[in-house]
Amino acid sequence: MEEALIVNQQNILQNDQPSPIVSRWLERTIVRRQINFQLFSLASRHLGGIRKGMLTLKRLKAKYSKFFNESMYHKMAKIDGRYYWRVGAPGYPSEALTRVQGGEIARLNSSSGPHLRTLIMAVTRKCPLECEHCYEWDNLGKEEALTLDELNSIVRKFQEFGVGQIFFGGGEPMVRVHDLGRLLENALPSSDFWIYTSGFRLDEEKARFLKSKGLTGIMVSLDHHLAGEHDQFRGYSGAYDMAIKGLIASKASKLVTGLALCVTKKYCSESNIRQYLDLARQLGTAFVQFIEPKAAGRYQGQNVHLTKEDRDLLERLAKEYNTAREYRDFPIVNYPDSVFRKVGCLAGDRLLYINSLGKIQQCPFCDETFGKTGDLELEKLLEGMNRFGCKHYNKALI
Ligand code: SF4
Repeated sequence: MEEALIVNQQNILQNDQPSPIVSRWLERTIVRRQINFQLFSLASRHLGGIRKGMLTLKRLKAKYSKFFNESMYHKMAKIDGRYYWRVGAPGYPSEALTRVQGGEIARLNSSSGPHLRTLIMAVTRKCPLECEHCYEWDNLGKEEALTLDELNSIVRKFQEFGVGQIFFGGGEPMVRVHDLGRLLENALPSSDFWIYTSGFRLDEEKARFLKSKGLTGIMVSLDHHLAGEHDQFRGYSGAYDMAIKGLIASKASKLVTGLALCVTKKYCSESNIRQYLDLARQLGTAFVQFIEPKAAGRYQGQNVHLTKEDRDLLERLAKEYNTAREYRDFPIVNYPDSVFRKVGCLAGDRLLYINSLGKIQQCPFCDETFGKTGDLELEKLLEGMNRFGCKHYNKALI
């Protein structure tokens, strides 16, 4: 049988990539049970009893279904022997996941102390692109503020604090690919590491290099299913080809892959989103992440927010592609803004952002800064941030 082809506007042809989504019911069931058993054992040990362990597992499952509008690990991807079900959760089995699960158990049982799980850090102020929505726009092109040693010590500090996932962003992090290799080499094996990239300079050699240093996954930004439109949005001719090639190279190197889509008002239609998800399926990514535009960075002062109809559409499609049988080999769709609307913002609570000056922000879109990582004890800093709240969403209720 002839294989389907991905044809982009520059006439690059690629064979359909295999889907990493686990299709066998038995395998999914066994893995789900193993993850649940791990949660139950951790909770029983932490709380001192089987009954408490059972109860905690039940409450965690109920909480998950309420947040994400679907049951726990409904769909999962398998890459290089590990299983993934959300961009925001480390893979199974891993020390990182055990840490994150421990934090959620402690949180549910009102144990004191912050339970930070994710760190996003800007590792550079350089980027060759000129994206319409860039949140680091005012800092781009300026001299680098953080040395490799400083980056190393930030990573260490947060790992020792218990963070289970670290995402490197920028600017364009691939401009510091050798430093990324060293950062990964010096890090503890207790976190999953991801890179957010436009695909710049991401070829097979670099993907293999990063994988060999311990990288877990790559999120590639792709903001339109058509090449010309994506290039225009990103202010860079060839951005689309670079994103697609980077994604395929990462997949070939057994990295977990995802596509991040900034869904603008202009792009937000049922037909566009379905075409985008078709492309994502052809590319064989594990994840697609819908990101809503915010009036920050280059969009500051502009009315870029999606309407309620737009948001309802995205929520409906995310649910459909994550649960309907006909889309079972399509990527897992994550829509964090929809979760934040329901349960409050997780930034400054489960998530932190370090900007390209090394200053702490709640997230990339809230530009208030809370000092440098070395200035304060992290516990005190997080307490302060929690009181401060978020300007886009309510304070986290979970
Ligand atoms: S959004 Fe990212 S890729 Fe685009 S200009 Fe900003 S830093 Fe560069």
